[in-house]
Amino acid sequence: MRILVGVKRVIDYAVKVRVRPDKKGVVTDGVKHSMNPFDEIAVEEAIRLKEKKIAKEVVALSIGPTQAQETLRTALAMGADSAIHVEVPAGELERVQPLHVSRIISKLATEGKFDLVMVGKQAIDDDCNQTAQMTAAMLDWPQATFASKVEKDGDYLKVTREIDGGLETIKVGVPAVISADLRLNEPRYATLPNIMKAKKKPIKKMKASELGVDLTPTIEVISVEDPPVRAAGIKVDDVDTLIAKLKEAGRV
Ligand code: AMP
Repeated sequence: MRILVGVKRVIDYAVKVRVRPDKKGVVTDGVKHSMNPFDEIAVEEAIRLKEKKIAKEVVALSIGPTQAQETLRTALAMGADSAIHVEVPAGELERVQPLHVSRIISKLATEGKFDLVMVGKQAIDDDCNQTAQMTAAMLDWPQATFASKVEKDGDYLKVTREIDGGLETIKVGVPAVISADLRLNEPRYATLPNIMKAKKKPIKKMKASELGVDLTPTIEVISVEDPPVRAAGIKVDDVDTLIAKLKEAGRV
């Protein structure tokens, strides 16, 4: 089984994101970026499937600017065998939406004869949660989204999914698309020797146009706003004062 794993370079989860003055996006220049956390989980699971001999090869894919290669090197250092970089100049990055990402993944999955596409359940920058679903639809493959456990079950994969109020277990035939949820695994850290080895692993560079994918946006961002600022809280000494304050504020 060959696995294609999507890894997106996003603003690091620990960075306080600032809205740009033109309110059309967020400040990205000079801001720390890392691999989308759910994608680290997807890479980890793909590598575990390889370690369990369920998969033969893991290929990481990133669609993004030159720096996306750093994200790919991280995936390679974790254990991916090779990588594909679909280069999009930094200035054009905001044009790339989940629809385009899904088209690129579908094309590569078909051309590369992959059996499994693994992605994160969502990218923490746009919070779209669309790529797995659209990719599965385009490929006409079954999808197992929000996976918290993946096991082999004969010719099928048994996937436990995190759903509202519980867990759902489903069986999917391959080829399939899986999206990783938070509890699927705890991603490994790349060791120094593996980081060194990753430098020698191949990264194939290509352009979206070579795959026949047009990056014209279909969604226009009208405005990006900061969340409302929370009013400062107060500390009270005891429950009676708390109740009195809540009464004063008309809350009880
Ligand atoms: P989204 O639908 O945008 O929330 O993204 C869901 C998942 O799709 C991410 O966790 C990634 O695994 C994958 N993905 C999205 N954008 C990209 C990208 N530019 N390059 C590689 N993978 C991506």
